[in-house]
Amino acid sequence: MKSIVEGMIAGDERSIARAITIIEEEPEIAAHLLKDIFPYTGRAFIIGITGAPGVGKSTLVDKIAERYRREGKKIGIIAVDPSSAFSGGAILGDRVRMQRHNLDSGVFIRSMATRGQMGGLSRFTGDAIDILDAAGKDVIIIETVGVGQDEIDIVSHSDSVVVVLIPGMGDDIQAIKAGILEIADIFAVNKADQPGADRVVSELEYLFTMLTESVLEMPEIIKTEALYDSGIDLLVEAIEKRHQKVIESGLLNEKRMERCENRLVSILRERLLNEAMENVLKDGRYHEYVNAIFVRRIDPYSAVEEIMKGFGRREQKNA
Ligand code: GDP
Repeated sequence: MKSIVEGMIAGDERSIARAITIIEEEPEIAAHLLKDIFPYTGRAFIIGITGAPGVGKSTLVDKIAERYRREGKKIGIIAVDPSSAFSGGAILGDRVRMQRHNLDSGVFIRSMATRGQMGGLSRFTGDAIDILDAAGKDVIIIETVGVGQDEIDIVSHSDSVVVVLIPGMGDDIQAIKAGILEIADIFAVNKADQPGADRVVSELEYLFTMLTESVLEMPEIIKTEALYDSGIDLLVEAIEKRHQKVIESGLLNEKRMERCENRLVSILRERLLNEAMENVLKDGRYHEYVNAIFVRRIDPYSAVEEIMKGFGRREQKNA
């Protein structure tokens, strides 16, 4: 354990990989590890990249990573794939992509899949960010498929969010969840080599004039061709410019404070739930409660109150 922490802090890739596996698979050990490394965190710039499947996120992330590498920055990439619990897609993607960066020890890539945890993925993402941050990565990119609330939660770990769109979505843009529009700090209209990119740009601009309650100014919209390595400099420039603004306005600290609160609440929620579940699962009461609710012998609210009372007593006894 001590050697993993030491290795990680020194930026050793195998130690980083091992640490991330620990947070995924061994929650008890993970807590110790995360406590030890916490003092080394809070330094990295965290970029979230989100968009529908196939818009070119992975290609774009590779290119962005390349740009930062040229400046000598160390990069960590976490590709969160909420759908891959079934397809195994993330792991395959990882292998393909790792081949591109495996000669360059400044880039660390890791995919994370849901494996069926509810809400847990967002916490894992936060933990994985801490690990890469403590390991001295200057820029951490979180890439995720932007479809639902979970993905928005994941993106909420970022300092800056890039939403990727493509031409040909036409009127579909109107159907994009407002939530996705609201989290965007920058828009990348990728595949700009294909017809309709300008239309996407003007539709976005129009949409933003409608969102009058937005306190922030209109996000920059950058046309990119990730596959042909075009527009990437402009995109990175826009990301950096925006980041500077967010630092200067004090908004970054506000965002980070909110993130601290979210993490505290999510860890607390999970711990309490786990302990309560353990408590009722141990003596078979869990299934009794489910059955009792089913036959209408007890309502779910009273069941929870009974469980909580028992939980409280056990805690007192242990104290
Ligand atoms: P992701 O699912 O969002 O990560 O998308 P990928 O990065 O895997 O890209 C999906 C497909 O779009 C791949 O075949 C890419 O080669 C292709 N692609 C990515 N960027 C561009 C682009 O700028 N133009 C075109 N024509 N294709 C692109």
